[in-house]
Amino acid sequence: MDSQGKAFIYSLLRQGATFRRTLKSLNESQYYSAEQLTSLQNSKLSHLVEHCYKNVPYYTELFDKLQLKPDDIKTKEDLTKLPYLDKLTVRGNYNQLIARNKSKIFCGTAETSGTTGTPSKFLRDFYSVNFENAALWRFREKTGGNGVRKVVLRGDIIVPVEQDHPPFWKEYPLNNELYLSSYHISEENAEIYYQKISEFGAESIYAFPSSVYLLAKYFHEKRKKFELKAVFTSSESISDRQRALIEEVFMCRLYDWYGQVERVSAIGQCEKGTYHIIEDYSITETVDTGCGYELVGTNLNNYIMPLIRFRTGDLVTLGERQCSCGRNFREISKIQGRSLEYILTPDGKRISLFLVSDSIDFDDHVSEAQFIHNKRGEMIINIVAGEKYSEKDRIKIIKTMKDHTSPDMVVTVNEVTALPRGANGKVVNTIARVSDNINC
Ligand SMILES: [Zn+2]
Repeated sequence: MDSQGKAFIYSLLRQGATFRRTLKSLNESQYYSAEQLTSLQNSKLSHLVEHCYKNVPYYTELFDKLQLKPDDIKTKEDLTKLPYLDKLTVRGNYNQLIARNKSKIFCGTAETSGTTGTPSKFLRDFYSVNFENAALWRFREKTGGNGVRKVVLRGDIIVPVEQDHPPFWKEYPLNNELYLSSYHISEENAEIYYQKISEFGAESIYAFPSSVYLLAKYFHEKRKKFELKAVFTSSESISDRQRALIEEVFMCRLYDWYGQVERVSAIGQCEKGTYHIIEDYSITETVDTGCGYELVGTNLNNYIMPLIRFRTGDLVTLGERQCSCGRNFREISKIQGRSLEYILTPDGKRISLFLVSDSIDFDDHVSEAQFIHNKRGEMIINIVAGEKYSEKDRIKIIKTMKDHTSPDMVVTVNEVTALPRGANGKVVNTIARVSDNINC
C-alpha cells in the first residue's frame, strides 16, 4: 500500500467506532457540574486501581508494601495515600508497569525527544489513543476550524532536509491534508510556501508554535496575509508575542493545547480562548512548588501502562476566572513550561527560564532568540537580528535580563544568522543545563 493509502486507513482507524463513541460521551461530560465531574473521575479511578492491583506488577508490589487494598483508593483525595511517580521510576520499572492481561498488539509506543534531558518511552493502548484524539477533536470542534482543509507543520521529515528546491510538502487528498516541511521555511522560500498554501485552499494549520511562528514572521515581512479559520498549536510553549503575530498574519484565533507523551494531564484553550485543565480527561493535581504549580496527573484510560500521580515537571500559574464557555474545568492563566528550565542567579535564586525569555520584545530589532543557561549566574542569548538591530538593543537586552534575574548576572548576547533546529524540527528556544534534578 502506498503512503497515501496508509494515511487514509490510519485516519479511518483513528476515527472509527471507538472514537465516535468516546466523542459522544466527551461532548456530554464537558458540560458536567463540578460534582458530576468528580463522580466521573472517582468511578474511573476505582476501576483503574482495581485493574492496577490485579494486573500490573509494579502496583501490586507498591500496594502490598504500603499495606493498601484497591478499596483504599476510591476518590481523588485518596490518591495522596500513594507516592508520586517520576520519569526515572517509570524508566527503571518499564516492564513492571505493563499490564499482564493486555495485549501489546494494538499498542503504540511513544517516545519523548529527550530535549529536556530525560528521554522516556511509554506504551499507549488503542482505547487511550482514540480517547486522546476524541478529547482534542471535541475541544477544537467549537472553534469552527476543525476537520477542514488543513496544513500540518509539525516537524515531520517531508522531503530530505538537504533538498534545496520545491516541493517542500506532501499532499494527502483523501484526508484533505497538506504536510509542509518545518525544515525549509526561510525568507527565500516564504513565497513558495505562501503560493502552495493558497493553491491548496488551506482553512486551518496544525503546527508546532516555532514552525508556524517562523512562517508568520516571513509572511509578515513580505506583507502577506492569509485568512484561516483557526491555527492549532501544541508541544511547545508559545509566548504572547508569537501568538499575536500568528493571529495577525493568519487573521484568525490560535488555539493551544498542552499535553505530554505520558498523557496524564491535558490543558486546552476553549473557543473563548481560556486555558482549561481538561477535567474529564484525567485527574490533574496541582502541586505548589513555590514558583508555580507542578502538574501531577493520573491517566484514567490507558490500561496497558497506567501511570498514577505522575510528575510531569511542568509548571503552570493557576487562574481564578469562571469562563463563559459553560465548562466547569479549572482555569490556567499561564503554562510556564518545564520546571527544570530555570535560571539560577549568582545569589542562588531560581527563576523560570520561560518567563525570563518571555520578557524580550520581538520586532524589527530582534527577530528570534535562544536562551542558554549553562552555569549558575551566567546566561547566553543567541539572537537573530532584525533590520533595525543596533548596539542599543544589545545593551537593552542585557539590562532586561538583569532586571528579570539579578544585577550580578553575567549576560552575553551573540548575533547569529539562524537558530539551530533539533532533530524533531523544533527550535529549542530555552536550554538550561545547570541541573537536571532540582524542581523550579
Ligand atoms: Zn472556557
